[in-house]
Amino acid sequence: MYLYGTQTVNEKGHLTIGGVDTVDLAHIYGTPLLVYDIALFKERAAAFQETFKKAGIQAQVAYASKAFSSIAIYEVAAQLGLSLDVVSGGELHTAVAANFPREKIHFHGNNKSYTELQYAFDEKIGCIVLDNFHEIEMIKEISEARKEKMNVLLRVTPGVHASTHDYITTGQEDSKFGFDLKNGQTDDAFLKLHNHPYIQLLGMHCHIGSQIFETEAFRLAAEALMTKMVEWRQKFKFTCSVLNLGGGFGIRYTAEDEPLHPSKYVEEMESTVLSMARTYNYPLPEIWIEPGRSLVGDAGTTIYTIGSTKEVPNIRTYVSVDGGMSDNIRPALYGAKYSAASANRMLDPHSDKVTIAGKCCESGDKLIEEAFIAQPVEGDLLAIFCTGAYTYSMASNYNRLPKPAIVFCEDGQHQLVVRRETYEDIIRLDIPLQKIGREQSK
Ligand SMILES: *Cc1c(COP(=O)(O)O)cnc(C)c1O
Repeated sequence: MYLYGTQTVNEKGHLTIGGVDTVDLAHIYGTPLLVYDIALFKERAAAFQETFKKAGIQAQVAYASKAFSSIAIYEVAAQLGLSLDVVSGGELHTAVAANFPREKIHFHGNNKSYTELQYAFDEKIGCIVLDNFHEIEMIKEISEARKEKMNVLLRVTPGVHASTHDYITTGQEDSKFGFDLKNGQTDDAFLKLHNHPYIQLLGMHCHIGSQIFETEAFRLAAEALMTKMVEWRQKFKFTCSVLNLGGGFGIRYTAEDEPLHPSKYVEEMESTVLSMARTYNYPLPEIWIEPGRSLVGDAGTTIYTIGSTKEVPNIRTYVSVDGGMSDNIRPALYGAKYSAASANRMLDPHSDKVTIAGKCCESGDKLIEEAFIAQPVEGDLLAIFCTGAYTYSMASNYNRLPKPAIVFCEDGQHQLVVRRETYEDIIRLDIPLQKIGREQSK
């Protein structure tokens, strides 16, 4: 069994995270409970930051906060000197509530609304990453009306697409995001912004995929963007000061995943950008990156309570837990794989092969197809590892299940940072019948 970060097994045979016994946490806060190892989050952030620092390269490491958005995680990110990517007014509002330094907030998304863009101007955020021509028109209108400046990056699709275990390069990128680098769209976008009195184009951005395990795709993407930057410098005497190469760095969900150390990705980017800058005598741009999953993914562990167990003779044993696709939709949505352990009996042999099922009314609500755990007894605690990214942020109230609580642990201390939803929360937006469909009384 693979333990992450500060995880250990104590003398009672219980899983601990950040020096805190998870069985105690389950008693205090209930289950399902999402537990974050804050020391591990900090370690991951430092690994990216320090690699840039060592090379003496100006950089911003922006936490791509759609992976897990809450006031408390934004507060930790701010303390660490991270920048912050938001993709909606709601995430921006959370950042404002956390009093995140505005100049370090970057706004993403392929369909930002007029209202969201206004909000970004109201808060004077650091940068808007422009995705399409519609946004260019809107941002021109807003900045001219308000006579206010805004920094922007152009999001481009470099024709490099990386996924879990390989990458492909295509001439024409079929993506809903960004301007195509090769068919002239990126140049058109550039010309619409060039020399604008209020819009300051800082440079280019790309994000080539997620859960990537090799560095080659990042090198190709950096080369593609730098090539365009060199062209603009020759043609238009315009120099980009920022090259944003996105996120997508892979993490270990199960034993099959073999992620690289964060420094490896950063070093590949650095050497590509340095060598191209030297070749073309281009002033070295700042490199920005946007890790999401690789900052919070393995720092999160979900603790569930085991309820019913059902044996289908000669086929499999279902072990059901008190959450499921409502708090982690990734297995149902894209076949994501996880590993688990019996959190209250870590020292018992984990030799029972079972399927971990959720409690939602969908046959597809299985969290782990094949898990090895201690012989399950009702009331046992089950830890599913590496659930820190794209779980709570994608959670729903399907079957009107309340969303779980979230607790941060570090140095033997724990603090609730998102409280568990109550049944009152579940109905708080409901409005009982007033007119429509109400039986008429005479
Ligand atoms: C989702 C996203 C990221 C983060 O991706 P991870 O795989 O979580 O690292 C970074 N940048 C952009 C633009 C994204 O959309």
